[in-house]
Amino acid sequence: MDVKEFRKAAYLVVDAIADYYEQLDSIPVEHQVKVGYLAKLLPAEAPEDPEPFDIINSDFHKLIMPGVTHWQSGNFFAYYPCNSSFPAMLAEMYSNMINAQGFSWDTCPAMSELETVATDWLAKLIGLPADFHSNSKGCGSIQGSASEAVLVTMVAARDRTLRNNPTQPSKLVVYCSDQTHTSTRKAAQILGLTMKVIKSDELGQLRASALLYQLENDIREGLVPFYLVVSLGTTGICVSDPIKELALAAGPYSLWLHVDAAYAGSALILPEFRDIHIKGISLCDSFNFNPHKWLQVNFDCSALWVKDRSALVLALSADAAFFKKVIEDGTLAVDFKDLQIPLGRRFRSLKLWFALRSFGAKKLRGMIREHIDLTDKLLSLIQADGLFCIVLPKHHLTLLPLQVTPLSSDEPLEMVNERTKYCAHILDVDPSISITTATFKGKFIIRINIGSPQTKYSHVASLYAKMKSAALLAREKKLS
Ligand code: PLP
Repeated sequence: MDVKEFRKAAYLVVDAIADYYEQLDSIPVEHQVKVGYLAKLLPAEAPEDPEPFDIINSDFHKLIMPGVTHWQSGNFFAYYPCNSSFPAMLAEMYSNMINAQGFSWDTCPAMSELETVATDWLAKLIGLPADFHSNSKGCGSIQGSASEAVLVTMVAARDRTLRNNPTQPSKLVVYCSDQTHTSTRKAAQILGLTMKVIKSDELGQLRASALLYQLENDIREGLVPFYLVVSLGTTGICVSDPIKELALAAGPYSLWLHVDAAYAGSALILPEFRDIHIKGISLCDSFNFNPHKWLQVNFDCSALWVKDRSALVLALSADAAFFKKVIEDGTLAVDFKDLQIPLGRRFRSLKLWFALRSFGAKKLRGMIREHIDLTDKLLSLIQADGLFCIVLPKHHLTLLPLQVTPLSSDEPLEMVNERTKYCAHILDVDPSISITTATFKGKFIIRINIGSPQTKYSHVASLYAKMKSAALLAREKKLS
């Protein structure tokens, strides 16, 4: 493909993207394929000879699109959102144009410098204290995922602990709650470290008393506690651990405190949410959230801040003669390779910068408030009929964790779970909406999350109509 052909093809693709967003409402959210569908439709070998773009493009629409789950649809209520936006998409095009590796300052100065500026902007927007800003000992960086953020901070914490307190690595212990995302288990698994899961309270929060009990037990047994994940918005039910209470309790034990706010972190741009949830953050070592979830920045963009960037650099830098270090005016330029696992990196800050500038903080706050408002409206519909109940005294942000209402006050939990599963199944096989399920304290729950920029009241009202008829069928279902 030469430049002339590229120009023509790119216009076609942009038109197809614009058409897609205009037609999203008429497309079923769920894919329409079975496992292994694609290999049957494609040749077993890559082509020897070039194929024309028109044929490839037509195969994209014919073969690939049927296998797509439409996360951008206004009818997507599953998992957590994964927002896209046109400004971020355009920035991705420029990022692809540049296609630099950007591992050190010298390999693409604009990439390193914009990442510093954009993560500082974001830190200020969500109210992270100055200790996390780049003009302190701390800094922000953009990782590919919240899972990578847990892994790199766990490596830094492990090395810091072993430096300060030489001991056998097998004695080190990672802590989290039974509501923490599985990425913490995965990181501990990768590093071959012991992990202890602490039982959360009836609201799903990790409490200081439970943490202290476990820490004291483990220390008595000769183990060395070193890393704790505090969740701000758990995956299952979106509950937040009390950061300050845990940080104060953990203080004397020199644990590295990592805050995982993968989804809920975006809501910290709202002062009313921040004031409640970020208390104690200055006592933590690292903080991470995914602007790619709920801040209109296309996947992937996971922002990680640490208070002591040297802890990451000491653990993750691996220098070779061919890496050029740049020192100007006595200051060593940041090489982002030292803050992450891979060497090379994408120009992710470009889409963050485009999105922050195109929307402005006010519009982004407006979108998050609108989603919260839509969630409250859905809750009002639910409460008016009483066919579902929330498994918490109060839901958080835009996540509704629901069970079908018991038929009587003494209906056993197993029966309520069965009815809820049946109701979830009816919703699950409906391709026009997407929802997910989870469990919380033995309760099977339907999770409804509202977070797509495309979601309006009409989508919510139509979702509720489907929920209502599924709940009525579940109530009539004869259970064995
Ligand atoms: N932490 C929480 C609370 C999450 O909800 C998720 C994913 O939804 C993750 C971590 C993992 O995110 P990632 O896909 O960025 O690794």
